[in-house]
Amino acid sequence: MKKIAIFDSGVETPEEIILAAGFTPYRLFGDPTIQVDKANEHIPPTHCLWTRNLLEQALKGLNKDIEGLITAHGCDRTNREFDIWHECLNLKFKYFLNTPLKRDEIALRFFIKDMKELIYQLESTFNIKITDNKLTEAIIETNKIRRLLKELSEYRAKNVLLGSEFHSLVKKALQSDKNEVHSNLKSNLEKIKNKTPFDLDNKKRVLLTGSDIDDTEFLIYLEDLGFHIIIDDLCVGTKYFWHEIDENEEPLKALAKYHLEKPIYSTKFPSYDRFNFLKMLAQTYKVKGVINVAQKFCEPVLYDHPYLNKKFKELEIPYLFVEATYNRESYKQLSTRFSAFAEII
Ligand code: SF4
Repeated sequence: MKKIAIFDSGVETPEEIILAAGFTPYRLFGDPTIQVDKANEHIPPTHCLWTRNLLEQALKGLNKDIEGLITAHGCDRTNREFDIWHECLNLKFKYFLNTPLKRDEIALRFFIKDMKELIYQLESTFNIKITDNKLTEAIIETNKIRRLLKELSEYRAKNVLLGSEFHSLVKKALQSDKNEVHSNLKSNLEKIKNKTPFDLDNKKRVLLTGSDIDDTEFLIYLEDLGFHIIIDDLCVGTKYFWHEIDENEEPLKALAKYHLEKPIYSTKFPSYDRFNFLKMLAQTYKVKGVINVAQKFCEPVLYDHPYLNKKFKELEIPYLFVEATYNRESYKQLSTRFSAFAEII
């Protein structure tokens, strides 16, 4: 199956347009086991390590099924890096989707206009037609996946599913053929319904948030240190499935509204919306603490931290902020801080 890659610091690329164009949406993930070398020739050392890691993979050659790339306007890193990808990558299709920073009526119209341009560019490059019917079918399909993920997500708090297991299901949903994803999630749900809960009484139930955390091993590492991640506010997590797209609205308007109304990421305005969602999750799931992990040099999450710190203090919910290097070897250096937090909550 031919794929269109997504390079997105949030989850704001409308997968439904890619599906309606006959491609599989394929979100690019970092690989924390590789050494970054070639990418250093293009970007300075103080540039977000996660995007540098993705560029390294791209320069070495992406999966051969990938026919194109869509980059969404997220943080300054993804925005400026698109130029480098544009220059260095030999792909048939490349598009920078200008997802708005604000969430008002003007932003809605602006977003719809840019999605129309994306559709036009896809149609002319691949000689295809993206109709409203195809878009609606895609919306129905991805909504089914969101519903299944949301149902599965609840089994984390019931101690039946580990946070790391759930994270790997979301990752698959972001890269695989949607029909396969749908049947895989359905069968997982059936199995889980009959599963005996884990004995996790001695684990600390936490909410995990932060930058693009796409390495499932990082969640396993946290679990080994005594945490049970019962809920998250991650792009590879609730941000992907918490809300649904209106199936009765005109499809492009429904897509734009969905992306402007769903849980906000640090790259977007305003931070208090982001905090309100975190607060709702923390209180609904009665977590013992909140862990906020910033990728090294991730400015949007670094800027959010003082505000979140203050707000969680007011709520008397323990909060830990950690800056992590996107490299598995370096995780170990953070063990003391995580263990100390596990002890006090
Ligand atoms: S980790 Fe932070 S700086 Fe890097 S792409 Fe994501 S939002 Fe941008």
